[in-house]
Amino acid sequence: MEDDKSTAVTCTILAIDHSNCYYRACAVCERPLPDDSTTGVLSSCKFCDFRAFNSVSSGSIRLFRILMSIATDTKVLTVICFDKVARVLFGCSADEFFDFAKLHPFSGETVDKILEGEMFQMTLSKPQNGNAQHLRVVSAVPLRSRFQPAIEALREHYGSRDGS
Ligand SMILES: [Zn+2]
Repeated sequence: MEDDKSTAVTCTILAIDHSNCYYRACAVCERPLPDDSTTGVLSSCKFCDFRAFNSVSSGSIRLFRILMSIATDTKVLTVICFDKVARVLFGCSADEFFDFAKLHPFSGETVDKILEGEMFQMTLSKPQNGNAQHLRVVSAVPLRSRFQPAIEALREHYGSRDGS
């Protein structure tokens, strides 16, 4: 068999790395922004600098980037999952999740528990650049018909009553 670029697998989520699940990106071009972790000050996007000048606070957004372990029927893999796929799992944007997690500090751990054991049909692709070490999740389809995205389960879990 020829080595295909992407593979479809049926798998179970074992764990997600909830301590580091998003990165800051330019709101215009969605390229990652360098984050100065000591000061928390973000550099502006060097590709859209002139725009950031004009649009005041819309300079950056959060995008999901999540490492997770999954088990297929033959092996355990660590894969990386970017924004588009992560939204299927979370049911919200990374910014929304960040805001929720600010109010509920254990949201990350809870998401890990919520998603643990969920079965998915995933398409995995090999990293295209030599530096990337993990297979990338290109698509994920929940196999359980009553699958709830993490944010919905979280809201239920914390009994979130918006504004009351
Ligand atoms: Zn930009």
